[in-house]
Amino acid sequence: MSKKIEIRDICFDYIGKNKAFGALENINLEVDEGEFICILGSSGCGKSTLLSILNGLNKPKSGEILIDGKKVVGSGADRAVVFQNYSLFPFLTVKENVMFGAKKSLKRKNFTKEERIKRVNGYIEAVGLLDAIDKYPFELSGGMQQRVAIARALALEADILLLDEPFSAIDPKLRLELQELVSQLSKIHKKTVVFVTHDIDEAILLADRVIVMEPKHIKQAINIDLPYPRIREELVGQAHYEEIHRKLISSFYENIEQNIYEEVKLWE
Ligand code: ADP
Ligand code: MG
Repeated sequence: MSKKIEIRDICFDYIGKNKAFGALENINLEVDEGEFICILGSSGCGKSTLLSILNGLNKPKSGEILIDGKKVVGSGADRAVVFQNYSLFPFLTVKENVMFGAKKSLKRKNFTKEERIKRVNGYIEAVGLLDAIDKYPFELSGGMQQRVAIARALALEADILLLDEPFSAIDPKLRLELQELVSQLSKIHKKTVVFVTHDIDEAILLADRVIVMEPKHIKQAINIDLPYPRIREELVGQAHYEEIHRKLISSFYENIEQNIYEEVKLWE
C-alpha cells in the first residue's frame, strides 16, 4: 500500500506576547492510502494544531508534510475538512452550501453543469438529506448540519478527509449514526482519513489505527484489527475488542492527571 501522507519531524509553536509556547515537538507519522486513522488524546494535547498543519492553516516551525510523496505548503484541493461546529454559511441552503466549495473542484475536473448538479445531489443523497435540500442551516438540527458539512467535504472530491471532533457536540444516538455514515462513505469513496477525537469508543469504532497523543507528542500507535462494519453492541464483550479497549484506555489515561496539571501550571 502506498503512503498517502507523511508527517516528518513537525514542530509548532504558538507565539504569544512575551514567549512562544511549544504545542508540537517532533511529530512523525505516516498514513497509508485508504487508511482511516484516529488521533486520540485529551484536551489541549495538540490534536487540532496537528490537523491545522495538515490542512495548511498553520505553518510548522520546522519539519514537512508530504502528500503522495510531494512536499505541500498551505492548503490544497487534495484535502477537505470537517470541523466540530459545522461552519456552514447561514445564508445558503443545504444545496448551495454543498455547491459552494464543490463548484471549483468539480469544474477543475471538467464536469458539465448538469454533471456537477448530479454529483452534488448524489452527495446530499448519500448523507440522507435530499428532503432538506432547500432548507437553511437554522432549520436543521445539529446532526443534520453536520451531515451537510460531510456532504460538502465529500463534494470537494479530495482524496484526504480531515475531521476535527466532528461529532462531539452531537447527542450519543445520532453520533452512532454519523460515525457509521462516515465509516461507510470513507470506504465507498476510498478516502484517506485523519479523524481527531477524545472519545475512545469513537476511535475504536472508526479507525484502522489509533494514534494516541500526549501533550506535544505522539505516544503510541495501536492497530484496530476488527472487521467492519463495527457494531458497538456486538463488539462489547468480545475478548479481542475488550483487549484493544483496555490497551487504549491504559494508553489514554496514563499520565493524564500529570499532563492536565502541567497544562494548568502553564497558564498560572
Ligand atoms: P487539542 O485539539 O488537542 O485540544 P490544541 O491543538 O487546540 O489541542 O492545543 C494544543 C495546545 O496549544 C494547548 O495547550 C492550547 O492551549 C494551545 N493553543 C491552542 N491554540 C492556541 C493559540 N491560538 N494560541 C496559543 N496557544 C494555543
Ligand atoms: Mg481540538
